[in-house]
Amino acid sequence: MHIILEGGVHEIGGNKLFIIGKKERIGIDFGRSFSVEKRFYSRPFMRPPKWNPLPVLVDIGYLPNPKSYEGLYRNDLIEASRSVRDYNLSKEPFLSHLFISHAHSDHYGSAAYLHELTNICVGRKTKDLLEAYEEISSKITIENEFLKYKKIPTNEELRSLKERISEIFREYKLTFNDEIFEKIISGSEEARKAINKEIKKDQSVKEIFEKIRDGVIGVTNSVLKKRNIESKELLKKIISSFVANLERIIFGSFGSDEIYSKIKGEKEKISSGERSLKIIEDEKLIKLEEFEVLPLRVSHQVVDSYAFIVYANGKKIGYISDFRWHGDEVEKTTKCIERMSKEKIDYLLIEFTRAHEDYEPTREQVIEREIQAIKRSKGLTIVDVPLSNNWELNLQYQIAKLTNKYLCISPKFARILKAIDGSYGFPKVEDKNILIYKDKNSEGDYSPDRKWEEFFFNLKNTITTEEIHKNQGDIIFIGGYFDVNRIFSEIRPVPGSVYIRPFRTYEEGSLEEEDILPEIEAERLASLVRMEQWLRVYNLFWETKMPYISGHATSSDVIRAVKEINPKNVIPIHTEHPKYFASLLRDTNINVIIPEKGKEILLTGRK
Ligand SMILES: [Zn+2]
Repeated sequence: MHIILEGGVHEIGGNKLFIIGKKERIGIDFGRSFSVEKRFYSRPFMRPPKWNPLPVLVDIGYLPNPKSYEGLYRNDLIEASRSVRDYNLSKEPFLSHLFISHAHSDHYGSAAYLHELTNICVGRKTKDLLEAYEEISSKITIENEFLKYKKIPTNEELRSLKERISEIFREYKLTFNDEIFEKIISGSEEARKAINKEIKKDQSVKEIFEKIRDGVIGVTNSVLKKRNIESKELLKKIISSFVANLERIIFGSFGSDEIYSKIKGEKEKISSGERSLKIIEDEKLIKLEEFEVLPLRVSHQVVDSYAFIVYANGKKIGYISDFRWHGDEVEKTTKCIERMSKEKIDYLLIEFTRAHEDYEPTREQVIEREIQAIKRSKGLTIVDVPLSNNWELNLQYQIAKLTNKYLCISPKFARILKAIDGSYGFPKVEDKNILIYKDKNSEGDYSPDRKWEEFFFNLKNTITTEEIHKNQGDIIFIGGYFDVNRIFSEIRPVPGSVYIRPFRTYEEGSLEEEDILPEIEAERLASLVRMEQWLRVYNLFWETKMPYISGHATSSDVIRAVKEINPKNVIPIHTEHPKYFASLLRDTNINVIIPEKGKEILLTGRK
């Protein structure tokens, strides 16, 4: 019996733990490895390939090697890789169950690659949040196919698809080359908007578009002629939109199963699958064949975060990542640590993200400091909150109430609130203190650009950017670097408005994975500099050095937790400083195991 860490080793994020028994193998977390990703890619401009990502992602160390773990990955991904690698298909999943600790992508983000029969075990609100993140994400990637997945086409199918598309292009004397075909793979939001615009102007375009789509898929490609489309420009537009949307058709977010089956040339709808999901609950023991798993809620930035105790052949494994021992729901962490200390844990895996940080402000300090900042504002108050930080959003809602202001959020944040649905004391989207802003679309009117936004545009508590401009003194606006156009050309805050960034910046210390997109560090720094430029041009006041409630336990809280649990062995994860961690436990009888990526740790148990 042993465990293997395939991620979260000498890195923050990318947690991947395998527990290998005699009859059963389970995993805890299967997250995106930001550190590896940052070394090789810079999203959103440079990303992993779409069709056949497995071989390169394995080569660069982003994903574990399927040769070491047969059955770890989806068979369609293995199949697509078999022309370049001798990977084996497997009917049996390597992991029977994967337990996901919480809805942060460095903990769940690579689970979409896992074998189709691996049971995914998540909290109920985690599931709802993942659905929300999936819906609001504009990028269609395999990593978004967490709850449902679509088999990717084989190389053979891709070749025939390419031929069919080139036929249509030839017929209309349009250029077709590899570059255009590449577009199919990359897709674009602009193209999608272009076709929506055409559809709005002329409903028949939609029909035509659907016919061409079917045309490519083998029904007919003479429809265009019948419809007397004379404008070559329009035609070009439609085709390029279509090309961009093919990705969605194939990956299933746009097209139906039926269309997908046509691409695949299959009659039956076997193209997509829903993963088998199991809902976990706080303190509710899950009995598997060989193991028993006890989920224990802990406090973190997202709601519904769990630690686990795994009972495995008389040995007890504890897993706590991520967690904090302060902030909202702190009592959950206390309870979890008490439980683990009673259990006599043999092996404890625990995060040590904030290795060198011990400062943690109180909630009261944070609120007071922000209220001061809001009072200084001569107009709008802008607060930059990352989408992944649920509790920060809730805090801003509380502050808005305390200062008699409305909290104004984007439809994306509204979608997240809808997922949380009033649990944990969060406001509902319809709350009278919340306003959801509507953007002008490309035609200059206020209507939703995307289907999921419709629900929110139809609520009573919506506000236009023009109305925000007029009432800016009454509003706390949640937005930041990615909203500069919205803020400075639509809302137009008056000089002396305030911009608050209540999370750590690059200069101020350790990065937290939840801060912003996993950009390369230089890009992150550049984004701060750019934001400052904007604020300067429009005379906004930047409140820097705001205290901030971290998602992670301080260094001394982690050590206090370890000492209280008093396990026989402890393994630091989700940290860049495992040796420093060991040095802090030198005066105890607890054995520190410094993990190595991919190396078995034999479990010897308590005598
Ligand atoms: Zn996290």
